Amino acid sequence: MAVKGEPSFRQSVDLMFNRAAALMDLSPGLEEKIRVCNSTYTVRFGVRLRGKIQTFTGYRSVHSEHMEPVKGGIRFAPSVNQDEVEALAALMTYKCALVETPFGGSKGGLCIDPRDYDEHEMELITRRFAYELIKRDLINPAQNVPAPDMGTGEREMAWIVDQYKRMNTTDINGAACVTGKPTNAGGIQGRTEATGRGIQFALREFFRHPDDVKVAGLFGSLDGKRIVVQGLGNVGYHAAHFLSTEDGAVITGVIERDGGLWNPNGINIQAVSDWMRAHGGVAGCPEGKHVADGAKLMEEACDILIPAAMEGVINLTNAKRIKAPVIIEAANGPITAGADEILRKKGTLIIPDLYANAGGVTVSYFEWVKNLSHIRFGRMQRRQEEGRHQLLIDELERLSADKGLGWTLSPGFKERYLRGAGELELVRSGLDDTMRAAYQSISSAWHSRNDVTDMRMAAYIVAIERVAASYRSKGL
Ligand code: NAD
Repeated sequence: MAVKGEPSFRQSVDLMFNRAAALMDLSPGLEEKIRVCNSTYTVRFGVRLRGKIQTFTGYRSVHSEHMEPVKGGIRFAPSVNQDEVEALAALMTYKCALVETPFGGSKGGLCIDPRDYDEHEMELITRRFAYELIKRDLINPAQNVPAPDMGTGEREMAWIVDQYKRMNTTDINGAACVTGKPTNAGGIQGRTEATGRGIQFALREFFRHPDDVKVAGLFGSLDGKRIVVQGLGNVGYHAAHFLSTEDGAVITGVIERDGGLWNPNGINIQAVSDWMRAHGGVAGCPEGKHVADGAKLMEEACDILIPAAMEGVINLTNAKRIKAPVIIEAANGPITAGADEILRKKGTLIIPDLYANAGGVTVSYFEWVKNLSHIRFGRMQRRQEEGRHQLLIDELERLSADKGLGWTLSPGFKERYLRGAGELELVRSGLDDTMRAAYQSISSAWHSRNDVTDMRMAAYIVAIERVAASYRSKGL
């Protein structure tokens, strides 16, 4: 969303990069090398639909190849353009470095409104786009691995992997050419929810740092915190659903394309999501009062604002009126560089996109590793682990009986302790660990220097330092 008088999305990302780089000791050449986008491939292709040929424009941008494969989602939206794809590719470079997934940064997009086409037409278009990228190694398990983003999901990823396999019949690692696939097509459990789950883990970690919470003027835990969420798609739905059903947060506002819902007593996210599926929007949903100008709800008083729809929604036109003391950027680039400055001056604490929404790429990394190892996580260990736990329980029960100690295990303990970790448990554990470790590296960069005044700068510094180290070790 381009806002008049503001830099473009890519310029905005570069401005944030520059602000961090100014605090670092990088040689000017290296600084530029890290910032610039390596390449962007534009494709225009035709598909015969409804009796005539329609031409589509798509992009695949590679921002940095300091590690390969490069990684980044494919977005289907009418707003897709080169600037946007390059901005998103740059964010992927920094994000992957921050959460230590061994990838460079990339992104793709197709300029299309998926709502204009039926499923069969979408399959034809997606396969044709994938064909153009695959034949140029812009989709390839060793070089460039896409994933879902706005407007795409498991369905599109399944078509892409099938297209790759048809074109590379002898590639034994073909399934690793794309992540976010359905589990029956080589996907991993927990990927669909991963970005929203990552938002939850990021907020939990934030609330484990009382000094950081105090910076935002808040206290306590997530329990009872009032949340407004914009965009109830993959990321927004899962984040809001988990935070309200597992952490006691209260969702007071939901903003969608056709307006918003407001209910200070709390909105049932599952009910809204079901309503949206049946009616195509939130209007008429009894979960809250409908507000036609939904974006206005971002300006309502709440504790945490979660923009989870698209970039540029908090900009020079509304930043001053945002009241939330904490904003967690679930979407990529929801706050423009200008708005970022206004909010920082106001003391708003921003948990930045490159950290906040990294749950998706983290679990994509696990999926890629699973595909390359050709075995489900936990398959070898699960029963062995259960057997060892059973041994301990048996021994405890024997001791109790032999010595007449009368020990009894608390209800449910035995069942929970005995259960070995399956794929989903391992994925959640790996994601939680990643989000905690990344928060801690941001936190130490933030608090160890006086000139690092906000979390975004700290996150960029950690990420840029890691990319720089990778380039240096290559002798650049
Ligand atoms: P999605 O297409 O599943 O959902 C987007 C939702 O936002 C939809 O419900 C749509 O109706 C709504 N929306 C769009 N424009 C809006 C507007 N102007 N106002 C209010 N609502 C609007 O997309 P997603 O995958 O959830 O991605 C959302 C954001 O998260 C994007 O910025 C994306 O880059 C980022 N992200 C996604 C992932 C992922 O794994 N899917 C990972 C990292 C970052």
